[in-house]
Amino acid sequence: MRILQRYLRAAATFTGLAITLFTAATATAGGDRLRVVASINDLASIASTVGGDRVEVAAIARPGSDVHRVEVLPSYMVRVARADVYLKVGLALDAWADQIIDGSRNTKVTVVDCSRTITPLDKPTGRVDGRAGDVHPDGNPHYWLDPRNGALVALELAEAFGKLDPAHAADFSARATAFGDECRAHHAAAATKLAALPVREILTYHPSWVYLAASTGLTVAATVEPVPGIPPTGTHLQNLVELVNARHLAVLLQEPYFPGDAADFLARQSGLRTVKMSPSCDDVAAGSYLAHFDAVVGAIAAP
Ligand SMILES: [Zn+2]
Repeated sequence: MRILQRYLRAAATFTGLAITLFTAATATAGGDRLRVVASINDLASIASTVGGDRVEVAAIARPGSDVHRVEVLPSYMVRVARADVYLKVGLALDAWADQIIDGSRNTKVTVVDCSRTITPLDKPTGRVDGRAGDVHPDGNPHYWLDPRNGALVALELAEAFGKLDPAHAADFSARATAFGDECRAHHAAAATKLAALPVREILTYHPSWVYLAASTGLTVAATVEPVPGIPPTGTHLQNLVELVNARHLAVLLQEPYFPGDAADFLARQSGLRTVKMSPSCDDVAAGSYLAHFDAVVGAIAAP
């Protein structure tokens, strides 16, 4: 126990030292680009688009990992310690971000809750308790999978960046507007593509894809998790087989970090095809947000 305490104290001192070193290094470098850290790559990619060469962007969660559960590491705090802006997903998805921001001791960082202007889906009515599973009380937080919401996020970022770097405010807002047009074009193309599917109902493992489905005319007939965050029972899987066969569903959309046994069972029993996709793009670069959306849509539409 005492050894653990000593270790923790040493780790805390090291973190403090690292933060000091980083702050000193950036101050002397005199770089005037805004340093942006985002919870997920999708927000980071939008920030790259809006900020252009005026921002330096990084993200915390790895794209193939579960954004609901991110282990808070001292290295993340160090990264946020030198940030000008932190981009949160909000709607209680990335509550871990608050721990990172607090731990960074950066009192000057501008925290942007990117969910501020979107209209949440699946807002629970009535009392939320444990029986409903891992329900997000303010609504479904996976909103970035509708590119029209990406367009709204871009406008928020242009405003936040413009306040911190007023000399380039007009550039930020012009890029956000252009990006919004692009988002709407990608959304329209996706809706057209998926409208051609013979069956427009899908299964998903977790409710991560409701915005993508709703915005492109698909319906999520059921989830493999009986309630969010709870793995399926045998009875639930048997009900799903009946549902899939009765309604001729063809696709299960599933994140790579969930186990594959339920998908294998459903495939054997009903011929259901599993589309394994991360709900996040794999890069913070401008362009990767919409490329990922197109890839998911393409994978659903694939024969
Ligand atoms: Zn979720």
